[in-house]
Amino acid sequence: MNETHDPSLQSWVESANSADGDFPIQNLPFGIFSRRSGEETRRKVGVAIGDQIVDVAVAAASGTWTGSAAEVAAAASGQSLNALMQCSPGSLREFRAQLSRALEKSAGSETASRMQTTALVPMAEADMHVPAEIGDYTDFYASIYHATNVGRLFRPDNPLLPNYKHVPIGYHGRASSIVPTGTRVTRPRGQTHPSENEPPVFGPSKLLDYEAEVGFFVGQGNSLGQPVPIDEAEGHIFGVCIVNDWSARDIQAWEYQPLGPFLAKNFATTVSPWVLTMEALEPFRAPAFFRPAGDPRPLPYLRSDRDRDAGGIDLTLEVYIRTGIMRDAGLRPHRVSQASLSDMYWTPAQMLTHHASNGCNLRPGDLFASGTVSGPEPSSQGCLLELTRRGAESIRLPSGEDRKFLLDGDEIIMRGYLEREGAARIGTGECAGQVVAAPSR
Ligand code: MN
Repeated sequence: MNETHDPSLQSWVESANSADGDFPIQNLPFGIFSRRSGEETRRKVGVAIGDQIVDVAVAAASGTWTGSAAEVAAAASGQSLNALMQCSPGSLREFRAQLSRALEKSAGSETASRMQTTALVPMAEADMHVPAEIGDYTDFYASIYHATNVGRLFRPDNPLLPNYKHVPIGYHGRASSIVPTGTRVTRPRGQTHPSENEPPVFGPSKLLDYEAEVGFFVGQGNSLGQPVPIDEAEGHIFGVCIVNDWSARDIQAWEYQPLGPFLAKNFATTVSPWVLTMEALEPFRAPAFFRPAGDPRPLPYLRSDRDRDAGGIDLTLEVYIRTGIMRDAGLRPHRVSQASLSDMYWTPAQMLTHHASNGCNLRPGDLFASGTVSGPEPSSQGCLLELTRRGAESIRLPSGEDRKFLLDGDEIIMRGYLEREGAARIGTGECAGQVVAAPSR
C-alpha cells in the first residue's frame, strides 16, 4: 500500500468526503463518459471523484501529469480504456499518485481551481458507457457454493462434478451484447422444452434470472502460445467491475448439453461502468478460499504461496430488486442477497492463469467474470435459481408480491463495496437493468 490509500486523505471535491460514498479520493476508478449536452458530446476517459468526473484529456492538457504518468494520460485520449489498459502497472501507479495529489485537499489552490473550472464534469450531466472495446468475454464458475446449489437441483445425489476442485470451469461468452448499467434488457425469445412428453416450443423465456458476478478487465495481454505464470497473473489484470449475467433458465436447461450455455446467456450482459484498479483494491485483499482437508491441492501451475495468502478480494456484492409496482408505490429497491467475493473457490489470478495455460492469448480490454458470487448462507445466493430452488419457492417483496423468476418491469440493481478497518470504504457504483417485454413477434 502507499500514500494514495491513506484513509485520512480528503479531497477538495467535497462530495468525495462523505463516509459512505463509493468514490472517495482513495478509489479513483476509470470509466468512459460522454456529456449529455453541450459542444463536446463524444466519449472520453474519466476518473470518478465524489459525484464528479475528471475529464482526463482536459486535465492532461493543463499539465496535471508528468513523466511516465503523462504517457498514461496520453493513452487516455481515445473513446475506450483499451490503450490505457495496456500501460505498464508502474506508470499507472504513477498516474494515480499524481492524480491523488492534485485532488487532495491541500493541493495548491491554483491546481484545484484550474481543475475545478475546466476538467470536472458532474456525473448528473454525463452518460456512462461500456468502459472498453471488449474483444472477448469469458465467464467462470468460481463459487463452489453456487456450483453445488445449482448442481443439487439437477443432480441431487451428485451435486458437484468431479472436475470442479481441479479446474476453474468457464465458457466463452459473447462480447457484442455487453451493455452498460441502465440499459433495458429485452426478455429473450427462445426454444424451450417445458414438458417431457411434448415437443419443444419457441417463445418468450418464462424463467428469466440474473447472476451477480464480478468482472475483471485484462490489462497487458499475453502473446499467443505464451502462458502466464500464476505469480505474474495479477500484473495482467487492470481492474474490476460488477457484472449481471442475465440468464434464461428454461432456454439454458434445454440447450446446454453437450456444449454449455449459448442463447440462454448472450442476449444481454450488464456491466457497471467504473473500473476499480487492482491498486485501489490493495487494502482489501484476502486469503484464497481455505481448502478443507480432503480437497485436492491446486495443480502446481495454479498454486503459489502469495496467491494462497492474499489472492482473494474482500468485495461485498449486493443484489436489489424493484418491481414496477414497487416503483409506482415509491418503495425502495429490496435487497435479496449479499455475498463476498472472498468466498470464491478460485482466485482471479488462478482464473487468468488457467485461461492462458494452453497458450490462449488474452488481450487488453478482454473481460472475464467470476461466475455467480454465492456464499455459504441462504442470504448470500447470487441468483434466483438458487434463492427459489428453481421456482419451487418464492421470494416475498415489500409490496406483497412474490417472485420465482423475473417479470417484465422488474429492475435488478447490483452494488459492490469494499470496507475494512483502517481503510477508506470504496464502492463500485451500480450495475442496473430493467426487464422489458419480448417483442410481440
Ligand atoms: Mn454466469
